[in-house]
Amino acid sequence: MYKANENRYAQMKYARCGKSGLLLPRISLGLWHNFGSVDPFENQKKLLFTAFDLGITHFDLANNYGPVPGSAEENFGRIISAELKSHRDELVISTKAGYEMWDGPYGNWGSRKYLMSSLDQSLSRMKLDYVDIFYHHRPDPDTPLEETMGALADIVHQGKALYAGISNYNAEQTKKAAEILRSMGVPLLINQFRYNMIDRWADDDRLFDALDGVGAGSIAFCPLAQGLLTSRYLGGIPEGSRATRSVFLTPDRITDELRAKLNRLNEIAKNRGQSLAEMSLSWALRRGRLTSVLIGASRAEQIVENARVINAPDLTDDELSAIHSVLA
Ligand code: NDP
Repeated sequence: MYKANENRYAQMKYARCGKSGLLLPRISLGLWHNFGSVDPFENQKKLLFTAFDLGITHFDLANNYGPVPGSAEENFGRIISAELKSHRDELVISTKAGYEMWDGPYGNWGSRKYLMSSLDQSLSRMKLDYVDIFYHHRPDPDTPLEETMGALADIVHQGKALYAGISNYNAEQTKKAAEILRSMGVPLLINQFRYNMIDRWADDDRLFDALDGVGAGSIAFCPLAQGLLTSRYLGGIPEGSRATRSVFLTPDRITDELRAKLNRLNEIAKNRGQSLAEMSLSWALRRGRLTSVLIGASRAEQIVENARVINAPDLTDDELSAIHSVLA
């Protein structure tokens, strides 16, 4: 039986999520990969317990995480109900709906019909009474935003989620979503979007300004670009890495040109006494820009390595310009 580390709150830092009362750990753990029915169950426990022992209190899921879709929520539910139940009030658990989940016209996108039933299914798979954050997973060009945000607001009013979030919404969409939610008495808590040294679209879109303007927080997914921004691929494509196992990171992305850049970034990291993974997280978290980074991991040691960023000094202007000249 798992016994939580008594010192789990000694190192982690927590940041306020926008203007809400909720504090999120600067590092959160996502269950997109490595928690499906195809993945070893014992390793899943190890990942979750290692994270919690380091003060990582926020676990992020979605209805479709697996494979098979839904199995990450099922596995998480098994572990939580058996071994983390007494810690439920120490956890921030999120899930989402917005991508294809079941057959027919009601298992995808952003209708009230889909969001309401999807969350009920997620709660039952995770054996939970409520989630802390429920997200609309991606904008739906065909459903009125009022309907989608109305569903989120009602879910919060019903107590099935404590907070409402959006994911993959750009600055304009974020402002509109926040305004509609506010008119329904539910503040927008957070936007979850891709952000890392390679993919800086959120800077170009002025998304951070938009989030500040509406008082919402931010959490970056794929802050390590699925492992590209770590030591994983510096010398090639190792067996067992995500690039050999997942349709979401294909080997053709790892070109010689990219590897040369990664090796140059690795040199900058070494000079400041960090691994490339740590420096990539330092970059994402620089100057308090994000509330949290949402990492993934296939091994417990990766979580331990990544969590070291918490005590790292902020990047200097010189280091930032060295990094940006490699990426240019
Ligand atoms: P990352 O960019 O953190 O990539 C994680 C992967 O990088 C790991 O699985 C591992 O891959 C490798 N890795 C991590 N740390 C290290 C290390 N220290 N050294 C070497 N390799 C390392 O994030 P993910 O792409 O996993 O996404 C994180 C979470 O974001 C998801 O679980 C999900 O919750 C969320 N997400 C949300 C989306 C949305 O649309 N809202 C979309 C995508 C993700 P390997 O298997 O090779 O070991």
